Amino acid sequence: MSELADALRDVAQTLRHHRDLGMTEITRAASATPPPPAVDPAKALAAQEAALQGCTLCKLCHSRTNIAFGSGSPRARLMVVGEGPGEEEDKQGKPFVGRAGQLLTKMLESVGFDRERDAYIANVVKCRPERNRNPEPDEVAACNPFLMAQLDTVRPAVILALGNFAAQTLLGTREGITKLRGRLYEYRDSVLVPTFHPAFLLRNPGPEYRRMAWDDLKLARREFDRLSAAPPPNSLP
Ligand code: URA
Repeated sequence: MSELADALRDVAQTLRHHRDLGMTEITRAASATPPPPAVDPAKALAAQEAALQGCTLCKLCHSRTNIAFGSGSPRARLMVVGEGPGEEEDKQGKPFVGRAGQLLTKMLESVGFDRERDAYIANVVKCRPERNRNPEPDEVAACNPFLMAQLDTVRPAVILALGNFAAQTLLGTREGITKLRGRLYEYRDSVLVPTFHPAFLLRNPGPEYRRMAWDDLKLARREFDRLSAAPPPNSLP
């Protein structure tokens, strides 16, 4: 009985958080049941990216140069989720190609991941917030179906959530990254590993933060290896 009450409290907290983010309905993509595997993730992602061109669903459309939809391998078993494009990402229309992106590449390499081969990378919002301000709740809500579609298509075994925004949006919590990191979370049919955002690590070069990030990356690697023993959900028959 008390476990049921705890579970219902968690669901209520998640729903309140989504309501606070501006969401007015729960789509199938937000349900706990994973959809059937995509036939061809590359084609599905290309179609989603095409559908997003010219998007005016939120006010970020007024200041963006390009939409940074996603990059990397559509069949990756690791999906990295960041916050939103910065200046360089806005110019190139690709996530994580600026300074934070260079550090992300090194972070992934430090545990043997090649970002193009092993990872698919996307952000919570696909358009740059002016002067790199935090995305606002209505912007996160407007972009959420696109992130959910990417997750449904790639169906990664492991999600690396970078920083407060990615971790809080995906986990439906207001808890800060320092509290959230260091452990694994079940996220639909994936395992989610929260860690510090590379931009935060660039601003706070304290060795203790880098050490914690390194521990998180090792955790992600361990889960990736463990889950890679099972056949990928995107494998064709
Ligand atoms: N920071 C992010 O969160 N995403 C990017 O693509 C670049 C910087």
